[in-house]
Amino acid sequence: DDAAIPRRIKPLDQDVVNKIAAGEIIVAPVHALKELIENAVDAGATSLEVLVKDGGLKLLQITDNGSGIDKEDLPILCERFTTSKLQKFEDLQTIATYGFRGEALASISHIAHLMVTTKTHESNCAWRAYYDGGKLVPAKPGQSPDPKPVAGRQGTQITVEDLFYNVPTRRRAFRSPSDEYNKIIDMVGRYAIHCSNVAFSCKKHGESSTSIAVQASASCHDRIRQIYGGSIASELTEFSTSDDRWAFKAKGLATNANYSTKKTIILLFINHRCVESSNIRKAIEQTYSAFLPKGGHPFVYLSLEIDPRRVDVNVHPTKREVNFLNEDEIIQAICENIRLKLAAVDASRTYVTQT
Ligand code: ADP
Ligand code: MG
Repeated sequence: DDAAIPRRIKPLDQDVVNKIAAGEIIVAPVHALKELIENAVDAGATSLEVLVKDGGLKLLQITDNGSGIDKEDLPILCERFTTSKLQKFEDLQTIATYGFRGEALASISHIAHLMVTTKTHESNCAWRAYYDGGKLVPAKPGQSPDPKPVAGRQGTQITVEDLFYNVPTRRRAFRSPSDEYNKIIDMVGRYAIHCSNVAFSCKKHGESSTSIAVQASASCHDRIRQIYGGSIASELTEFSTSDDRWAFKAKGLATNANYSTKKTIILLFINHRCVESSNIRKAIEQTYSAFLPKGGHPFVYLSLEIDPRRVDVNVHPTKREVNFLNEDEIIQAICENIRLKLAAVDASRTYVTQT
């Protein structure tokens, strides 16, 4: 019968391939935003402004004051696997930038309307270009697709409109723009806390007040206060530890035993990447269970730097997770360091109440 006849294998159209890849890398607006923040930081920006409409589904715009992009590079900017950051596979072992695959802008251009305005220090004007499906396209039908000179300051502005406009099933999955906006605020807040010396702002289109505004000069402590509030910020303890055997350094700020909240908040950066780790989360929760009342949870900001040769950043399409060697030993060392700090604060508190 029919079922026994093999179907012939055919290569997919390049456009289909790119759209499928884009759907894996950009699952929600926040993933596009994360890539754009990382690009801005990679470009040496000290100021990042984010503007959002309808949870990023209608508009996601990020303006930075970084290096800008050379006009000559604009034609290939959004092609897949074009990057200024990686040259050979071995470079991944020592990669110091967030980006390395040249896939973010390409992906975005396949599932959204993308406009880029950029000015380098050397250029006497800014250049504006529009992209669709990885290629330059005209701003309006009938016009030339070549980048146009416009007035502008040094740096880059990326404008993403109508994300997932051509992926209807994905588009329909987003029921609530405000949920998507909250994810965006959360992500901007994380980078704003981690990236010292960089100013961040984030606001909803049409609103005069910002959801996040931190100045370049703000300390890490100040950033946490501004983003997570005074009750967390006033109960923070600094910790730091390192061990040459496993080639790591860790430091951060964690709430002490005076503070507890309903849900654990962990801001985890491994080699400056915002990542998730269920193993680290479990170990931290376990550490705090000895100090907090039942049902109480901490806030922990942890920046972990590991010799890049021991870290694999390429294990997840959204780069949400990384693998690293001696995970158990490193986690144990960090938690022991936090435990000592908590015990010290706890002891001083007991002492104060006794006298
Ligand atoms: P990747 O970051 O992996 O290289 P992207 O698609 O995110 O890939 O970006 C492609 C290239 O575009 C980058 O390598 C960089 O040269 C340039 N670029 C992207 N965003 C910016 C920016 N905000 N400022 C300066 N250059 C940028
Ligand atoms: Mg990138």
